[in-house]
Amino acid sequence: MDVRFPIDLRSDTVTRPTPGMRKTMAEAEVGDDVFGDDPTVNRLQERIAHMTGKEAALFVPSGSMGNQASIRAHTEPGDEIIGHEHSHFYFYEGGAPCALSGCSLRLLRGEGGMFTADDVRGALRPGNSHFPQSRLVVIENTHNKGGGTIWSLDAIRRIHEVAREAKLRMHLDGARLWNAGVATGIKIEDWARPFDTVSMCFSKGLGAPVGSIVAGSAEIIRRVHRFRKMFGGGMRQAGILAAAALYALDHHVERLADDHHNARRLAQIISALPGIQVDPRRVQTNIVFFDVDAAMSTAATLCEALKARGVWVLPVGPQTVRAVTHLDVSAEQIDAAGQVMSEVLHGRLAVA
Ligand SMILES: *Cc1c(COP(=O)(O)O)cnc(C)c1O
Repeated sequence: MDVRFPIDLRSDTVTRPTPGMRKTMAEAEVGDDVFGDDPTVNRLQERIAHMTGKEAALFVPSGSMGNQASIRAHTEPGDEIIGHEHSHFYFYEGGAPCALSGCSLRLLRGEGGMFTADDVRGALRPGNSHFPQSRLVVIENTHNKGGGTIWSLDAIRRIHEVAREAKLRMHLDGARLWNAGVATGIKIEDWARPFDTVSMCFSKGLGAPVGSIVAGSAEIIRRVHRFRKMFGGGMRQAGILAAAALYALDHHVERLADDHHNARRLAQIISALPGIQVDPRRVQTNIVFFDVDAAMSTAATLCEALKARGVWVLPVGPQTVRAVTHLDVSAEQIDAAGQVMSEVLHGRLAVA
């Protein structure tokens, strides 16, 4: 069978809209969303509000804007945010919590991007004027840098107990909450319940070209809306984009199970290769991290050699590589990528 190259495993953001999605986008009814007039955006927002069990939702251009407009809505300058040191909102969003919201960060450590209720309790500041005001807990599910890991709902609920006692708000960075939902069978509404705001992306595994959404109470979404405008995220005939998101909800959620299967299969194939460390049992969703033996190569060199053979993966540390499965990668392509990796690592091709 002919397998299509390149096989792009750098990220699940590289998906391109399918013909069916493009057709729906072309036919979308639109209006000026800054006036609240876009019927397709409104339909998407209502659908997500319902799905998350919240009063309202707001379409935003990116996951970063969803996180940062939510953070701004929950906080005042001088407040402090508690979250994991490897969180996207802190590590990959350009220092935005400090720059846009004037907040300090209390960063926690833990395996796979997780932390505990006790960690949160230990990070709370005393309530007097010497200290920043502890205000918000941010949880990321699935956790990107943690390796696509899924939180336990019980661990989240225990953190919620501490947050409630201490009058902290909770924000969920659910860029890949869809993956957590499909992998566990736990409904989006149940994942969302302990949180004041939830952001989710359509532009990752769901395959839409652009777009994320924030859900929460009507009151907090009014504030997120104000900061979306302030941050330059008000969009006009955005129904073209919302149509892609609606199409993705109808067609691309259940199939995330295929991505999870492909990720585990890739991990299994490469776990047998020389100089590679990966534990397939730790692959819970669509992200595979693996380490390259320093005696053999570096992550950057290996990625270059693979790229020359049409397999694109991402170096994320000196010896660490990330591969992500998605809508545009078939099971056959996973096998072919494994074959290329095997040839490169068995030295039939020089690792430059
Ligand atoms: C991708 C991602 C985001 C948002 O990214 P954008 O590129 O701004 O859409 C937020 N959180 C996590 C965990 C992500 O992986």
